Amino acid sequence: MPRVDADLKLDFKDVLFRPKRSSLKSRSEVDLQRTFTFRNSKQTYSGIPIIAANMDTTGTFEMARVLSKLWCLGVTSVLCPFQHTLFTAIHKHYTVEEWKNFAANHPECLEHVAASSGSGSGDLDKLCAIAEAVPALKYICLDVANGYSEHFVDFVKAVRGKFPMHTIMAGNVVTGEMVEELILSGADIIKVGIGPGSVCTTRIKTGVGYPQLSAVIECADSAHGLKGHIISDGGCSCPGDVAKAFGAGADFVMMGGMLAGHDQCLGDLIEKNGKKFKLFYGMSSDTAMKKYVGGVAEYRASEGRTVEVPYRGDVESTIRDVLGGVRSTCTYVGAAKLKELSRRTTFIRVTQQSSQMFA
Ligand code: 5GP
Repeated sequence: MPRVDADLKLDFKDVLFRPKRSSLKSRSEVDLQRTFTFRNSKQTYSGIPIIAANMDTTGTFEMARVLSKLWCLGVTSVLCPFQHTLFTAIHKHYTVEEWKNFAANHPECLEHVAASSGSGSGDLDKLCAIAEAVPALKYICLDVANGYSEHFVDFVKAVRGKFPMHTIMAGNVVTGEMVEELILSGADIIKVGIGPGSVCTTRIKTGVGYPQLSAVIECADSAHGLKGHIISDGGCSCPGDVAKAFGAGADFVMMGGMLAGHDQCLGDLIEKNGKKFKLFYGMSSDTAMKKYVGGVAEYRASEGRTVEVPYRGDVESTIRDVLGGVRSTCTYVGAAKLKELSRRTTFIRVTQQSSQMFA
């Protein structure tokens, strides 16, 4: 007989933060920097833990150049110039040659980028070639749609064997037991999210998924118990959602759709009726599969959408908006540092996020 877990699982839209008494005077006092030492690589990270998704539209070298800039409010540290920069998971379709050029021309960006890979044997060969060509590379992002397969677990172990010093991100999964298995197999940071993405159709095509807020709360608990870390991947549609992911216990938050439509994204501008757009699509959409593997294989369905996103100019203003929002959340709950946000978080269940009067 099938089992039904009747515990209520929540999404970002189902909750709000309960404000708390605070001695903070201004959001400019809030420190968004976090420092982590990773469980398996033993490497240390310092920065603002927001990641551009490793989709070919957003995980670009151009994005990395902007996200690697300092985003502090006037406080720079000479000791660690990277502590106020964001992170980019570079998509897996760049050639080794393109990686070499990027590394040679922008060595300052290498501290906070990851090279992505699927779990095919060709993927691993390419990852090895990139790591050899770019010795300063510190992060690897192993990304498959379904992180539950035994093959993926073996792949994570093999990559850890080859790269003992690299920090490995791996996913995607949404439950604690699989977070633990991947960490024990050598991953440092687990990507959490199945189905929440803005251009994802997995829940429609397969009926599989897990509301993202609950997934993050449960997976963070499992990861932190083993001194591992998690990324909340997908489902953020506004700065408040990013803050909720951190409040729920995410160490990092990954965004695709929120960074789409900018100058730094791959793709030409489309002009229609005097308005400008950029194409944004899921990495397993028809668009992506036609581009990279010549079409959708017969045995599978496309699990991604293609959308035209209104052009939004330089990504800088969007980043400022996100960082400003999260800083403000911290002041509402009395967290002087991002690190304190989840400890200061009480979520309340709501039936409406905001007024719809002028929506
Ligand atoms: P967003 O921030 O746009 O809500 O979510 C971004 C995330 O959606 C990505 O990091 C990735 O995990 C997921 N994603 C990207 N492309 C696809 C796709 O084609 N199908 C599915 N199921 N998920 C996707």
